Amino acid sequence: MKEWEKFQEEASKRDHRKIGKEQELFFFHELSPGSCFFQPKGAHIYNTLIEFIRSEYRVRGFQEVVTPNVYNSKLWMTSGHWQHYAENMFSFDVEKEQFALKPMNCPGHCLIFDHRIRSWRELPLRLADFGVLHRNELSGALSGLTRVRRFQQDDAHIFCTVSQIGEEISGALQFLQYVYNEFGFSFDLCLSTRPDNFLGDIAIWDQAEKQLEESLDAFGVPWVKNPGDGAFYGPKIDITIKDALRRPHQCGTIQLDFHLPMRFNLNYIGEDGEKKHPVMIHRAILGSVERMIAILTESYGGKWPFWLSPRQIMVIPVASQFDGYAVKVKEKLCAQNFLCDYDLDAGDTMNKKIRNAQLAQYNFILVVGEKEQTNNTVNVRTRDNVVHGELSLDDIMKKFDNLKTSRKADNTVF
Ligand SMILES: [Zn+2]
Repeated sequence: MKEWEKFQEEASKRDHRKIGKEQELFFFHELSPGSCFFQPKGAHIYNTLIEFIRSEYRVRGFQEVVTPNVYNSKLWMTSGHWQHYAENMFSFDVEKEQFALKPMNCPGHCLIFDHRIRSWRELPLRLADFGVLHRNELSGALSGLTRVRRFQQDDAHIFCTVSQIGEEISGALQFLQYVYNEFGFSFDLCLSTRPDNFLGDIAIWDQAEKQLEESLDAFGVPWVKNPGDGAFYGPKIDITIKDALRRPHQCGTIQLDFHLPMRFNLNYIGEDGEKKHPVMIHRAILGSVERMIAILTESYGGKWPFWLSPRQIMVIPVASQFDGYAVKVKEKLCAQNFLCDYDLDAGDTMNKKIRNAQLAQYNFILVVGEKEQTNNTVNVRTRDNVVHGELSLDDIMKKFDNLKTSRKADNTVF
């Protein structure tokens, strides 16, 4: 019981709604329930996560697209959403026709695939989209960033041939391992296979599931099988991450889909000159960026690593005659694209300012006085009050740059 109480206390201290308010990251407003306002500091985290994934897309052969938010209901009829998901969609009339906000990107990506004749030479085609999605959750079910109406995903759809499934799954697993490692998340894998009510060709299901199993075996992380638990349109791999408090979350998705390419009658010309349906793989790693920010806020307990931190550096002069030098240091760091502030408030003592910066979770505090001004240096300490002492401005900038690009923990460069 004692353990459980301790855990509960720690979890409530880390509640993302509480930290989001304290750190001025985000808030909700009754005039748009379930749609988050990210303030500048929160938007920095949001954009840094997207930029991280985007930089990996370039390396891993994904191409980013930008697609509409509003579609005629005819699209949703083709995809099947209108029949099975309409109550979760925001829909409205435009010039006497029904339109809806997209709850997912997949149908739009089918239109891109279908825009012209495709050849087997173009496959696998990996389309990524950070598009804004809306789902009409009941207002009573909304809860912080974990249950929202408006969100973005690191969504991608891979169009490939049946024989390419194995390689694409291996690539997807390596990609998600790379990303989760950066956050210190461990994860479990579970393969869900063909259910009784499956649609499509049983031979394709068999071939796909065999490749999924081979990819999972080769990946080397233990996995389990959930026979019969796949969706009717394809098998999937469920990924469960564990955060710093060892709480499980499902964020990533790897879902095969044999059905949507048929509904949209998507084809490519095979090597043999015959038309064939591609397989579609839905995949995401962060999942909803909103929800991932909730998980990361709680997992880090608000102590953001330097690369994600919206408050990286605070410059504090020991006395007001060094304000000019403090401003110069701040401007130099900002020019290098670091998030840097200074505290020139004459009403607080230097120690009070250091304490304030530490409580506000600035990763590094640079104190400057006579010696630092003369030597073109700064005196470095951390939010945990570890004093690294005097370093040249060039030196500290190199270290900050290293932290930002390597995404390593703050203490690894000293
Ligand atoms: Zn999808």
